[in-house]
Parts: sequence; structure tokens; C-alpha cells
Amino acid sequence: MIRITDRKKCCGCEACAQMCPHGAIAMRHDTEGFAYPHIDPDACTDCGLCERICPEIAFDNPNAMPTAAYAAWATDDGIRMEGSSGGMFPVLARYVLDRGGTVCAAAFDKDMTLRHTISDERSALCAMTGSKYMQSSAGDCFLHIRQALHEGREVLFCGTPCQVAGVYNTVGRHPKLTTLDVACHGVASPKVFDTYRQWIRRTTGRSAVCTLFRDKRPNGWSDYRITNTLEDGSEYSAAPADDPFIRGYLANLYLRPSCHDCRFKTPRTADLTLADFWGVAKVCPEAYDERGVSLVLVNSRRGAELLEAIAGSLAILHETDVARAMRYNPALTRSVTPHRNRERFFREMTEETDFGKLTECLARQSLRQATSTALKSMIKKTLNISGTKH
Ligand SMILES: Cc1cc2nc3c(=O)[nH]c(=O)nc-3n(C[C@H](O)[C@H](O)[C@H](O)COP(=O)(O)OP(=O)(O)OC[C@H]3O[C@@H](n4cnc5c(N)ncnc54)[C@H](O)[C@@H]3O)c2cc1C
Repeated sequence: MIRITDRKKCCGCEACAQMCPHGAIAMRHDTEGFAYPHIDPDACTDCGLCERICPEIAFDNPNAMPTAAYAAWATDDGIRMEGSSGGMFPVLARYVLDRGGTVCAAAFDKDMTLRHTISDERSALCAMTGSKYMQSSAGDCFLHIRQALHEGREVLFCGTPCQVAGVYNTVGRHPKLTTLDVACHGVASPKVFDTYRQWIRRTTGRSAVCTLFRDKRPNGWSDYRITNTLEDGSEYSAAPADDPFIRGYLANLYLRPSCHDCRFKTPRTADLTLADFWGVAKVCPEAYDERGVSLVLVNSRRGAELLEAIAGSLAILHETDVARAMRYNPALTRSVTPHRNRERFFREMTEETDFGKLTECLARQSLRQATSTALKSMIKKTLNISGTKH
């Protein structure tokens, strides 16, 4: 029987809840808003399956370090602008769908709850495309993946590295299953996102019906904004530093505890890793473009084959040095440290608190952190290195 005694040791992939043959495990949200498995002792037979498939307990990763790295972006400008970086996910997803396959990725449902959904329709891709910086619930998608593979269909799964590990531990390695993981800063609490949406309603008088976390349209890729479409069609849009949700997210105020001790970063868990190529201006300036550049890491032969298959849909596929490309993206290799005010934030986040003021006050860096950030930025400017962003 799985017992969560240390919250850092549960990534919330939901593999255990989905696979329990006795239906003895339900995911329940804790006070921070993160889901953890809850065992019904009457239904549990102590068969041990949940422990065997939990990726935090054991994950057999055949990948070594990435074998190749590319700067890439989609030829179709519309597709590229929808993606957070160069639109690699929508290109890969279209390729798999066009071959009669099915795609599983994160999309908001009509209540703005983020869930992994599976579909064989192109019309589902729009909602799946784009980064959403909070935990996505896997629901029963691993079971659907298993079913699709059983029917002989190709499946493309895209998620965080821990979710990919959860997929492999439950479904196994299958010749028709291909996976993508994202370089992951960490996932925020869905409860905090709901509180942010309430804050928008209070400040604008209208509800947000759609959130674009990485809006490249106004100022380009590196100077992105977060844009919320409101119910009357108007928009609330802000730069990351001025938006309470992104401000707290980037300051590590409300990430899942396991994200601060992530064991799925190296080697990468998926066939291909997708990231923003933040160092592109320095590593391969010829591929730099403000409509977004993806960094693609090849982690397996299957990944290399898939990338080769979609090369015709990419305007740029520029091979570059793996180590140099990764150097500018700390999220690929290192977990972030929780903000010193993390616990205080969750204590003070109530219905009555002004979310904007709370994150503004608590996300402030300590003097030591601020000095170190200023120093790093000075060194980068001096060396003319484009900054590591999120
Ligand atoms: C939570 C999170 C943190 C990230 N942190 C970084 C970072 O620190 N540095 C960096 O370089 N890149 C980071 N990325 C990845 C980056 O933002 C782009 O998603 C990536 O470059 C792929 O972009 P794209 O244009 O190819 O396609 P996109 O369409 O933007 O690809 C996004 C894919 O991720 C899936 N996805 C979106 N949100 C979630 C979620 N919450 N959980 C699981 N899957 C999700 C989508 O369904 C889609 O398949 C992060 C992504 C996420 C989701």
C-alpha cells in the first residue's frame, strides 16, 4: 500500500489511482490544492501494484544524455504563433493524427480545470497547444492510452517529465507509443490558479474564459505576456513581472513540493524534449527569431525518427551542440528552490486576501537573492548572453 509520508515524494502523476485493480485509490487535494493518493483501507488488498508502478519509487529509464540538440520552428506561422516556443508540439501532433494516431496532452476543460485529454481530432489540438503553468490532472488518460495502443493505434503523449515516467510505468514501452516531455520549471497549484481567476473577476468585474500564458503576439517570444480573454471579449494582459500569477510562479511561491526535488530531469524521460531555446542568440544566432524558437533534445532513436519524419514541416531544423544548448536552460537539469515565503503564502491565501497584493508582497526576493540576480544579469550583459528566461 502506497503511503505518502513526505509530500516531496509524490509528483501527482495519478498512475496509482488509475491502475489500482480494486478502485481503492482516489486522488484528493490537500490544503495547498495539490492532489495526492488517498487509500480506502477496506478496498485495498495490499497487492503492492501501486508501489511497483509509482515512478517516484522506481523508474527504469533507458535514455542516456540527449544524443542531439536542434533549434527548430514550424514553417506554418499560425501554428508557430500558437506554440509557446517554436510550435513543435502542434507540428508533431498533426503528424501523428494525420497517420490515424491519437494525441494525449494538457487542455483546459469548460470549467478552466487543466486535464490531460486524449483525442484523434485536429479540432482538439488548439486547446492542447501552449504551456499552462500548473499541474494538469491525468484523470484516466493512461488507461485510454493503453486502450488505444491495444487497438493498434499510434499514440503521442506530451507532458511533464514525471508524467511521462508515469505513462511508461503503467503502459510500458510500446512500439507505437512516442513521448514528449517539456523542460519544466515546475507546476503551480491549481487552487492558486483558481484564486488568480477570482482576483481577475474582482479587479475587472468580468470572468476570464481563456488564459494564454505565453502570448507572443504583442511583443514577441522573449518579451511574452500573459493574456486572459474576459467574458465580454475584452482582455486583461500583463508582462510576467506585473501579473500576480506569473510573478508568484516564477518566484517559486506555490510549486508542487516534488518539483523542488525533481528526479526526472536527467536523463530525460521522453523520446524528445521540447523547450524554449533561450540561449539561441548566443549558440546559433542564425536561428534566432522573435516569433519563437524551440530547443529540441533527442533522447532516443524513436525521437530521432519522429523528428526526421516531420522535418518537412519545419522552416528551421538547425543542429547545435547539446551541452551549449542546455547551458542556457537550467530547468532542463536543476530543480528550483522554494521561495522562503512559500509556507506563509499558503497560510495567508484566503478568500478575503487580495491575491495581487499578497504575491507582490511575498514574491519579493531576499536581499541575498536580489543581489545574486543583479550580479548574474550584469555578468550576462557584459558577456552579451541572452538571459535564461522561463
Ligand atoms: C509547466 C511547464 C513549465 C515549463 N517550464 C519551462 C522552462 O522552465 N524552460 C523552458 O525552456 N521551457 C519550459 N516549458 C516548455 C515551454 O514552455 C514549451 O511548452 C515548449 O518549448 C514547447 O513549446 P511548443 O511551441 O513546441 O509547443 P506548445 O504547444 O507550447 O507545447 C506545450 C505542450 O505541453 C503540454 N502542456 C501544457 N501545459 C502542461 C502542463 N501543465 N502539464 C503537462 N503538460 C502541459 C501541452 O499540452 C502541449 O503538449 C514549460 C512547460 C510547462 C507546461
